[in-house]
Amino acid sequence: MNELTNMRLTDRIGHTPLIRLNHLSDATGCEILGKAEFMNPGGSVKDRAALGIVRDAEAKGLLRPGGTIVEGTAGNTGIGLAVVGNSLGYPTIIVMPDNQSQDKVDTLRAYGADVRLVPACPFANPGHFVHQSRRIAEELNEKDPGSALWANQFDNVANREFHEATTGQEIWEQTGGKVHGFICAVGTGGTLAGISRALKAHNEKVAIGIADPAGSALYNYLTTGELRAEGGSISEGIGTSRITANFADTCVDIPYQIPDSESIPLVYDLIRQEGLCCGGSTGVNVAGAVRMARELGPGHIITTIFCDSGLRYRERLFNRAFLASKGLELPNWLTL
Ligand code: PMP
Repeated sequence: MNELTNMRLTDRIGHTPLIRLNHLSDATGCEILGKAEFMNPGGSVKDRAALGIVRDAEAKGLLRPGGTIVEGTAGNTGIGLAVVGNSLGYPTIIVMPDNQSQDKVDTLRAYGADVRLVPACPFANPGHFVHQSRRIAEELNEKDPGSALWANQFDNVANREFHEATTGQEIWEQTGGKVHGFICAVGTGGTLAGISRALKAHNEKVAIGIADPAGSALYNYLTTGELRAEGGSISEGIGTSRITANFADTCVDIPYQIPDSESIPLVYDLIRQEGLCCGGSTGVNVAGAVRMARELGPGHIITTIFCDSGLRYRERLFNRAFLASKGLELPNWLTL
């Protein structure tokens, strides 16, 4: 029998297919392609950040066998860390704001993570989920030095480096080096920053776009220099009020601000026209890809990220009353 290689669960993180959006490619005359990150074992793009951070910590001696991983997250990084942690023998403590989709909380609990919900509040508040997660790790390490790792996905650049080495490289190879543009939204910035570095290293002419949801400060920052946010979005896991270490010094050529009225209808179009059921952040990414295709013109290859499954947001994306409260509509062909 051949040597058993690449058969661990963690080996199945990444190497995701690049899927063509048929309708939107035909409509724009471009090839609009998305990395199917929802096919990762934990169901989202954040499995990559989780594995990158854990492997980096192991290599640096920051995570001992059986050590506890602590993180503050909108949910998907927590799920990624629980998947990676369970597979490699590290328990997880996950601190989440209490305004996220219940499906993500339930998923984390199903994986056995110790989930701590805290009131949602601005980053400047010491009660913010990121600060609370840091303090939990610090307290564990005070009692038992070296017993806990604070993953720190926002400012730990192992996140971006893993995307640079894997996601960006995969996009370059899967398009045969012909990619013209890449665009996605930013939460920590690890995905955009890592992929843009990888693609620009191959060809500095590859255009990098950001699809920033309403309620995030990056569009204003990139267009006016002012970190100012207004409005809001039902998309989860994206948008930021500050420049994280992962996002810092990232070259963005084309910034767009995407309202929910543009991204959410695309979520339903993807289901009906492409057979792809993805969450709100994927709608923002695809809206950005369509805008970039129109800006660059026909004949270009535009890539983006299909971040996670729409079924992770069942009680919001498929809830007529919730949508109506946000001024959004469920399409008529959905009989919910
Ligand atoms: N989409 C979803 C659903 C997410 O959970 C996240 C991560 N918070 C992102 C997009 C953004 O990825 P990143 O943190 O790499 O910017």
